[in-house]
Amino acid sequence: MLLNLLAFTVIFTIFSFIIFGQVQSTLFSQADKDLELFKERLTDNVNVGAEMRPLPGKENQDFPLNDKKGDNPNPRIVVIHWDAAGNIVNEGEIGSIFYENYLTDYPLDKSKIDEITMMTINNQYDFRYLLFEDTNNQDEIAYTQLLINVDAEQTIISNFVKLVTICSVIFIILSISASFLLSKKMMKPIILSWNKQAEFVENASHELRTPLTIIQNKLELLLRAPQERIADKFENIALSLSETRRLSKLTSDLLTLARADSAETELMMENVDVDTLVKDVCGPYQEIAESQEKHFWLNLKCPVSVKADETRLHQLLVILLDNALKYTGENDSIGVKTYAEDQRVVIEVSDTGIGIKEENMQYIFERFYREDRARSRETGGVGLGLSIAQWIVEKHKGTVKVTKNQNKGTTFIVKLPK
Ligand code: ADP
Repeated sequence: MLLNLLAFTVIFTIFSFIIFGQVQSTLFSQADKDLELFKERLTDNVNVGAEMRPLPGKENQDFPLNDKKGDNPNPRIVVIHWDAAGNIVNEGEIGSIFYENYLTDYPLDKSKIDEITMMTINNQYDFRYLLFEDTNNQDEIAYTQLLINVDAEQTIISNFVKLVTICSVIFIILSISASFLLSKKMMKPIILSWNKQAEFVENASHELRTPLTIIQNKLELLLRAPQERIADKFENIALSLSETRRLSKLTSDLLTLARADSAETELMMENVDVDTLVKDVCGPYQEIAESQEKHFWLNLKCPVSVKADETRLHQLLVILLDNALKYTGENDSIGVKTYAEDQRVVIEVSDTGIGIKEENMQYIFERFYREDRARSRETGGVGLGLSIAQWIVEKHKGTVKVTKNQNKGTTFIVKLPK
């Protein structure tokens, strides 16, 4: 917020200075042009010949300023002639009111010759002036000073400064409010994903700790009875082994998700024949299902190929079939159906198992979500399978959803673009 405030203030200040500089130079440029033009005419007339020069005090009557370009001399410009000693020599021509009120104590300042300069008379009236040396040595005039009143321009500028200051303050306040609201809005998803990440790490550590504790206990038991035979401690060893397998699956699932989060994993897209792949993956599952007294059926009607990563599609089917096997009992049936629909390929994995409660269906793709924690310990699941499945499908720009079967069990429907 503070950085935003600083950045906005700097931007507005620079912006205001640029606009201010532009306005000021534009406003004074006309006055400056008039001064230059007037000087040009004066010097041109001087150079025409000394006889053309008006006598001091008679400039406005005889001085032929207007006969060169056919227009009248600028009435805004006051001409002051100085002698070498710094005295005004044409006070009569300047006009007594102006002279007496403003110029009696006005000294000749020779520091800015031939350079248009700003000055204030009586701390009140703003003028731009141009002072130049008189090259004609035949009279007492040593310097000529042209003054033009720029009070109107100065008023516009000071009003403009006020306006810019007020606008800048308003814009800074607005931009602080906007940056506050925006940063809050921007932080929301970051905080959300941060919290999710923290929850993920906590769940992962918890899931890792449980099998590790079991393995440690079993090994300690074995260490306490070194003289016993392996056959007598078979149970401890078998349990440690199954927990080790669980750990290995868990770590590989965690790695897959961590890589998915960091967008590190790229798909190796190739043409994959859908039915062939499904048939290949289902082969071993059919055997397992039959060995568990479950019915397994295939209905493959999609002999087309899709652009996909075959390894990832294989992983997706394994996750869905693993679940179907895990959550079905004896005499249940598991089936896989494929078909083409518009521009998509559909793979349905259904079972007549325990099913998922309707109110829990929205959570099953979340990481570490398990409907029945006690049961999933038996089945070996940690609740990461469907999260990985969803990631694979989304990476292929497809969709996955779960529906409740009419009679019993669930169907997972995966749709992938052709
Ligand atoms: P797990 O490793 O626990 O199976 P998953 O992410 O694969 O994790 O599944 C999450 C949860 O969804 C499971 O714990 C289970 O409750 C439910 N589930 C997934 N597939 C099925 C299914 N075919 N039948 C019933 N419940 C299922």
